[in-house]
Amino acid sequence: MESSKKTTSPVAGQTILLVEDEISVRNVLQTRLTKEGFTVFPAGNGREGLALAEAKKPDLVLLDIVMPEMDGMTMLRQMRQTDWGKNMKVVMLTNLADADRAAEAGREGVYDFLIKSNWQLWQLVALIKKKLQNKA
Ligand SMILES: [Mg+2]
Repeated sequence: MESSKKTTSPVAGQTILLVEDEISVRNVLQTRLTKEGFTVFPAGNGREGLALAEAKKPDLVLLDIVMPEMDGMTMLRQMRQTDWGKNMKVVMLTNLADADRAAEAGREGVYDFLIKSNWQLWQLVALIKKKLQNKA
């Protein structure tokens, strides 16, 4: 996109796809991110998430790993095989440090993991903003 600085909020108009099966977590994240000015598309599993990712082409995907119907790693792999999803920005949400999954996500170009018990909302927001400001 253009490199000029905007006078409006840096997040204005930016969209986040939030794929998380735990309703309480999803609601907290959606409320906070909406307050920050993002447009949030919620999904409850990887299958819904994949369809929404293709339909909405969000600026960033927040992706839980353990979910019913389709887990986050499967959704990520399928996204990466598409033209629209191969370079999409993704932050994985996880419940525990998992070296195997981290390595697998790394092969799909995802290096940002947030371990749910370890972060606070402001840290998540800061990471999202930083990722959205980077080109690539
Ligand atoms: Mg889950």
